[in-house]
Amino acid sequence: MFCLVDCNSFFVACEQLINPRLMGKPVVVLSSNDGIIVSLSAQAKAVGLKRGDAKFKIQDIIERHNVHCLSGNHDLYDDISDRVMIEIGKLVPHISVYSCDECFANLSGIPDIQQKAFQIRETLLRNVGIPVSIGVASTKALCKVANKFAKKHSGYQGVCMIDTEEKRIKALQKTDVGDIWGIGRSYSEILNSHAVNTAYEFTLKPRAWVRKYLSVVGERLWCELQGEPCIITDMPEVKKQILNSRTFGHPITGFDELLSALVYFADLGMKKVRKQKSLTRGLGMFISTSRFSDPDLRYYASRYIKLPYATLDTGEVSGYIRILLNDIFKSGYAYSQAGIVYSDFQPQDNCQLHLLDNKDRVKQLRLAKAIDAIEDRFGSGTIKPAIIDCGKNGNWRPKAQFLSPGSTRLLENAIKVNVGNKNVYL
Ligand SMILES: [Mg+2]
Repeated sequence: MFCLVDCNSFFVACEQLINPRLMGKPVVVLSSNDGIIVSLSAQAKAVGLKRGDAKFKIQDIIERHNVHCLSGNHDLYDDISDRVMIEIGKLVPHISVYSCDECFANLSGIPDIQQKAFQIRETLLRNVGIPVSIGVASTKALCKVANKFAKKHSGYQGVCMIDTEEKRIKALQKTDVGDIWGIGRSYSEILNSHAVNTAYEFTLKPRAWVRKYLSVVGERLWCELQGEPCIITDMPEVKKQILNSRTFGHPITGFDELLSALVYFADLGMKKVRKQKSLTRGLGMFISTSRFSDPDLRYYASRYIKLPYATLDTGEVSGYIRILLNDIFKSGYAYSQAGIVYSDFQPQDNCQLHLLDNKDRVKQLRLAKAIDAIEDRFGSGTIKPAIIDCGKNGNWRPKAQFLSPGSTRLLENAIKVNVGNKNVYL
């Protein structure tokens, strides 16, 4: 058996953890640029807000119900996520982290599974302070279904188990086909057009039919919903492309400011490249004005190059970014968006060396590992290319007007208690 542990309204729960005054209040966390709602408390849902609402459209509800709006503080969420995963890891033989707020755990060999699930829930509440919902079933897709029930109906007290054939059928009959894990809008439309509306009706279709209309992805889901495990989530995902792009807080016009923004995106992307244990040889970039601006003032340009040597160092690619930007930058335009894309990855442990490469790649890898370790400990942005700060007070940084104070990884943000003549940090 497996279980899916999913944190409830995770970003909001993290904010409530460091600011308990927000408990029981309508609270929303906003996306990059403080644009749309990405996480919200039950009280915020009760006043009619939902995920995906644009902030500027719901200003009246925010004021009328005194809704607390917060910018996304991802350093904080990453830290709390680590704590959640460590606690779960202590209680079960094996976990695979699926996203920052959910993980699958393998419960095979555990005698009382229901008791274990409640133990996970209680431990996380007590040791980390984050409420979770747990779905237990024989496959991961069924765990997802069970988890939705655990979240939706308070009667389950946070734990829903699909452990009999009768429960499986009942749960699938009550699940819309569009709510199945991995069934996107286009698959959902195909199924609806063939009068398949519930997850149960989907499982009644012949296997060959599913393969014909929904390919092998749909077929795997179909097997999983029958109770036959075939989705593997433990394999580290190696992406073929890593893109980092943002809409700026305000449009920018200067070359240097645009360059500092691009290097910032390059640095964020390079961390992801290193995380998947790759080196990159493909570097692409684009700059763009707003698509809503006057047609005469619109401009978009992009460039792609193959680097001479595969690298994992932002400093090394920054030089190329400057050359590419020189090539495409035109003054007189107000740029509102830019991005960096990496591709053509090579594995770090099996990379082709070049006779003419004069860089010490072993040293470069050691340096990158040291930077990543420092950032894991003290928060992202602790070490960065100096050029990023040229635009520190610039306009390109996304708006984050309502950011909660800093990272939990910094000692200065810990609560200090004076005991006797000693300071104790909590
Ligand atoms: Mg969640």
